[in-house]
Amino acid sequence: MSIYKRILLALDLSDESDQLASKTAEMARASDAELNLIHVVEPLSFAYGGDVPMDLTTIQEQLDDHARTKLDQYAEKIGYPVNRKIIVTGHTETEIHRAAEELNTDLVIVGSHGRHGLALLLGSTANGVLHGANCDVLAIRVKEEE
Ligand code: AMP
Repeated sequence: MSIYKRILLALDLSDESDQLASKTAEMARASDAELNLIHVVEPLSFAYGGDVPMDLTTIQEQLDDHARTKLDQYAEKIGYPVNRKIIVTGHTETEIHRAAEELNTDLVIVGSHGRHGLALLLGSTANGVLHGANCDVLAIRVKEEE
């Protein structure tokens, strides 16, 4: 029985994204689900605010283009049809929630490093996505690359 019909996989495009992509593809295949991918590019202005006396537009566009290329590569090698590949600029958790709603997602998949202590209390992206999501959220434990 296929429980999940529409899966949204959030990728930070790090090396660990391979682990997430292959497990997610297996799950999507097993339940014949629609698979969507999202990567959020945080605006440079979030990091630098008004402190940098230059126009960051071109660098931001280059970051977006780079993310688009990498997400396309993941979609190619995931081994399962990808319905939509979303690149959006904004706050990561907010944009994942927004896309999940818009796509009528019933499962959001994120990676988790299973951090301990303070980092866990303060919350990782996985934590942030879980809180405020209107659907199920699966955190897949990713192993740190050596
Ligand atoms: P982190 O808490 O930053 O280690 O990220 C954990 C997981 O959150 C990643 O494996 C992704 O699934 C998701 N994630 C983090 N940053 C982003 C991003 N910029 N865009 C999409 N997903 C992200």
